[in-house]
Parts: sequence; C-alpha cells; structure tokens
Amino acid sequence: MGVSKIPPCGSDLPSYRGRFAPSPTGPLHFGSLVAAVASCLQARSQGGSWLVRMEDLDPPREAPGAADVILASLEHHGMAWDGPVLYQSTRNDAYRTALEQLTNDGYCYPCRCSRSEIARIARPGIAGLVYPGTCLAEPPGSDRDCAIRLRADAVIAVQDAHYGRLEIDLAHDFGDFVLRRADGLFAYQLAVVVDDAAQGITEVVRGADLLELTPAQVLLQHRLGLPTPTYLHHPLAAAADGAKLSKQTGARALGDGDPRPDLIDALAFLGQDPPADLRAARLEDLWLWAIEAWAPTRMPQERSASTPARYEM
Ligand code: GLU
Repeated sequence: MGVSKIPPCGSDLPSYRGRFAPSPTGPLHFGSLVAAVASCLQARSQGGSWLVRMEDLDPPREAPGAADVILASLEHHGMAWDGPVLYQSTRNDAYRTALEQLTNDGYCYPCRCSRSEIARIARPGIAGLVYPGTCLAEPPGSDRDCAIRLRADAVIAVQDAHYGRLEIDLAHDFGDFVLRRADGLFAYQLAVVVDDAAQGITEVVRGADLLELTPAQVLLQHRLGLPTPTYLHHPLAAAADGAKLSKQTGARALGDGDPRPDLIDALAFLGQDPPADLRAARLEDLWLWAIEAWAPTRMPQERSASTPARYEM
C-alpha cells in the first residue's frame, strides 16, 4: 500500500515496531483480519514499522499453503509489511539456545505427565488447567520423551493499554507451563517471547484471547533478561456460539473480491465508525482515512463481539 508516516525528527524514543503473527492453520478470516488491521493501524499511525511473523511452529495443525494464502490476502487488503517475513519454522536454534539458558539458570524441569493424567488431577486456572507440579516434586528418572516446563512462581502485573491492569499469581492461577513439548516441538509461549525480542517489537497488538497468557510471557522475558514490550489487546471476533472465530468454528475465508467492505467491517468492529462515503473511496484513501482516524480508545471494552454474519459459513 506504500502508506507510512515518517517518524518525528530528533525523537530519542525507540521507534515503534509492531507485528502481526498469524498461525497458518487456514486462510485469513474476519477474526485474523481484525488483528492485522488493528496492529497495522497502531504501527502506521505512529510512523512505526509493521512486521509479519508466521507462527508455523506446529506442523500437525497447519494447512498446506496457508502461509502464502494469508500473505496474499494481506496484500490484497492493502497491507504491506516491513522487511522479510519471519518464519518460526526456521528459528529452532534460537529457541534451543533460550531453553538452554533457562535450564542452566535452574528455571526449568522435565515433565512426563500425559494430558489425561493432568486432566485427572489439575484444577482450572485462568487459562486452562493449573499443572500441579507432580514432576517437580518427583522428577522423572530420565529426560527422554519429556516435556520441559518453566517454574512459574511469581506474581506478575501487566498494564494492558486497552483493558487495564491485570495481575496474576502465576503459581496459583496459571501453573508451570510447557516450553518444549514431549514430541520435541517448541511451545508458542517460548517462541513468541524469543521472537518478539529478536524482532525488536516495542508493542504487541493482538486479540483479547491472549490477554491471560501475557503475564506468563512477561515472566519468561524476565527470566531470559529480555525487554518487555507494551501490550494492547483488542476485542475478539466471536463465532455465533460465542467461541473465538476460527476455521474450526466456521469462519469463512476472506475472498479475493473487493477488499473494501471487509476493511470497513473490520474498522467498524474496532469501533472506528467509518463514514458511509468510505465505501466508494479508493483502497489507498480508505487506508489514509483509517490511519488518520485510528483511536484504539474507541474500541469496545468487551472482550469479544459478534462477527457480521457474512463472514461465517
Ligand atoms: N499466532 C497467534 C494466533 O494466530 C497469535 C500470537 C500472538 O499474537 O502473540 O492466534
């Protein structure tokens, strides 16, 4: 789209770097478009960079070709990212190094509990089950075929720019979390922290479903000696049954027709109140209006809102 503002001269603040980090489990849909638009507008309205990171960490969950389809769909909607796309599938050495550092510093332990064992004994927390620390109390004889968990023994407060302060006692409400799965795949929590730092991200803009995971990511930043970005979560596009809109809950892939109605619906969803005459504007002018008008304070305070029906199957 070629729309970017020049940062102010002589600013000694680190320049803004935001990102959009889709998982290539399917094509771009309305929910992921909202995340792309919010993160792009937050970056461009401050003259900052907007990067794209493909979170292709979990091959069994990915759809062949989805990464390319997502990128083509971003371009089709007038979103041009800065620099090369970072593919997490190329980043195993960085994740391994971070895990070694955490292990050497004594923050991790191997865990051989299966999902079903954990489901039997664990109690619910704020984001899934709270692992009861079985393998910390009774370490497995060998590390073979074990997951690696981080000891989450801290109270962490995060100030979200939209939803306010969130303080979580991780030991009580979150539990020791997996950094590397028993099948050898690195977990999202480790990868997102390593890569936000590697890409120099100054602010993370993403859906409110990830708000409760943020304190654990901040703990990991502290344990690794990495900077903590600021956070801005936006309301999530919900499917008809209230679940997060996704391929599984019946999200329709965005088409390759006129991209403007999709963008206008995303702007309206984000509370930006696009005027009726924007429908006839050129794509470039629509983006210029959106960058100029962008005010995240106008986003709804609810954690999720319903998706316009035409984006569902
Ligand atoms: N890959 C995640 C998703 O598609 C987003 C992760 C993030 O923004 O931190 O839901």
